[in-house]
Amino acid sequence: MNNPRILFWHRKDLRIFDNQALIKGFSISNAITSTYILDKNYSQDFNANSRAWFLGNSLKELEHNWKKMGSRLVIGEGDPLSIIPQLAKIIDAKFVVCNKSIEPYEINRDLKIKNSLKEINIQFIECWDHLLIEPAKIFSGNNKPYSVYGPFYKNLKSKMELLGSYNEDKEFYHLSDIDKKIRDNQIIKASDSVLKKFLKNIKFSGSKICPCKPGEKAAEILLENFIKEKKIYSYNFARDLPANKGTSFLSASLRFGTISIRKVWNATLNLHSGFENHENHLSIETWQKELVWREFYQHCLFHFPELESGPYRKKWDKFPWQNNNELFQYWSNGETGVPIVDAAMRQLNSTGWMHNRCRMIVASFLVKDLICNWQMGEKKFMETLVDGDLAANNGGWQWSASSGMDPKPLRIFNPYTQAKKFDPICEYIKSWIPELSKVANSDLLNGEISNLEKNNYSKPIVNHNIQQRLFKSLYAEI
Ligand SMILES: Cc1cc2nc3c(=O)[nH]c(=O)nc-3n(C[C@H](O)[C@H](O)[C@H](O)COP(=O)(O)OP(=O)(O)OC[C@H]3O[C@@H](n4cnc5c(N)ncnc54)[C@H](O)[C@@H]3O)c2cc1C
Repeated sequence: MNNPRILFWHRKDLRIFDNQALIKGFSISNAITSTYILDKNYSQDFNANSRAWFLGNSLKELEHNWKKMGSRLVIGEGDPLSIIPQLAKIIDAKFVVCNKSIEPYEINRDLKIKNSLKEINIQFIECWDHLLIEPAKIFSGNNKPYSVYGPFYKNLKSKMELLGSYNEDKEFYHLSDIDKKIRDNQIIKASDSVLKKFLKNIKFSGSKICPCKPGEKAAEILLENFIKEKKIYSYNFARDLPANKGTSFLSASLRFGTISIRKVWNATLNLHSGFENHENHLSIETWQKELVWREFYQHCLFHFPELESGPYRKKWDKFPWQNNNELFQYWSNGETGVPIVDAAMRQLNSTGWMHNRCRMIVASFLVKDLICNWQMGEKKFMETLVDGDLAANNGGWQWSASSGMDPKPLRIFNPYTQAKKFDPICEYIKSWIPELSKVANSDLLNGEISNLEKNNYSKPIVNHNIQQRLFKSLYAEI
């Protein structure tokens, strides 16, 4: 078969560079047409305004890049189960090529598509791209999937050292486009209007202040800045200070695959000078560990798909949650009267992103102070976060709720102690709660804002010490 036509299906890999399935596709033929489907059964990619913005703009750039290569990106909407085989037939593809997924819905969908393509003699080729190591290829000593982070990190790190570097070749391939008759097909012609309509309907007001940036080019710049501005060398302490822009802001890029995880990991290996200095070395390693937390949660979801719908530790099914909707709304709107919690929720609601330290603080507050089921918070995050990702979000919430893989039995954050430690001069708090800008830092940190200083800011909706005792007594019951 000479230069057979390929349908390349983008999902969480919205890029051309170092895309494993695309490399595979090119090794077969250069007659590649690509597609992205706005999957009506998997609205997780675009059902938050921030993610719709990130996705739409990444697709716009991707479409441009495919055109530059002489081919096209066909954007469809609906059910991939019918669209992919239909599209493959229209362009007379012999192969549909894509990268593997790890979420339960995606795995199931892909299996069905593989079977229906087989019936029409089209081969479905899947590659591994989204993580450094495929979840099905890393196991503990007794051949079981990992459920504890420490040993997972050790094993993965040793494998990464063996893997070494990846292909840095950035050559653009020249592709052959489909002929005019096919271009005139309804589905292909409708593609332009699908993206236009999608972009027009985006209702995200935080695009200027969201620290994550859509598209392959922007992701590369984020990584470059993180390294060139030497933020990676101070990451070990700066990552915990929400007022300090000391993290990479690559979470949405990694979630949508506008950058390859191999490129990101390699950037940490190429910092030879950094490794000579102990502090620098430590910082680089801490950042690597965060990248591995991402891997770990994906690994867990792949092997324990039941995580999607409930706690890993089953005893939490019996916990008597109070789920007070009024308290939940205060939390959600950043109106709890606890400054660090409100600042963080306002950052989330305005920008679509929240600092990691603050994600842990607000999660602990919702679960352990307001005694709301962690799944309420998980849902709110998925409705808002630009990097909202089932595995990372579920992992983060289960960690905070103590219902997940974390071996520590019960972790409760005191939001006032957290603020004293990580926002000691209240720079973060005051930037998100301007009505408190004139309050003395010590009063703010102790939660003792006088009526005169309040400026319409509410008093705390609950007392942390009382709630902590209540939570512990409820916990004792299970
Ligand atoms: C309750 C809760 C919910 C979360 N929900 C999400 C989510 O939906 N999507 C998401 O990508 N991250 C989530 N995180 C993890 C983390 O907060 C973000 O990845 C991080 O804040 C993103 O900022 P950054 O890109 O500047 O990260 P950096 O500090 O620069 O870290 C580099 C990369 O490592 C990964 N990473 C870092 N920390 C974690 C972590 N704890 N768990 C998993 N991956 C991590 C991310 O891909 C991140 O981009 C959540 C954490 C908590 C506590």
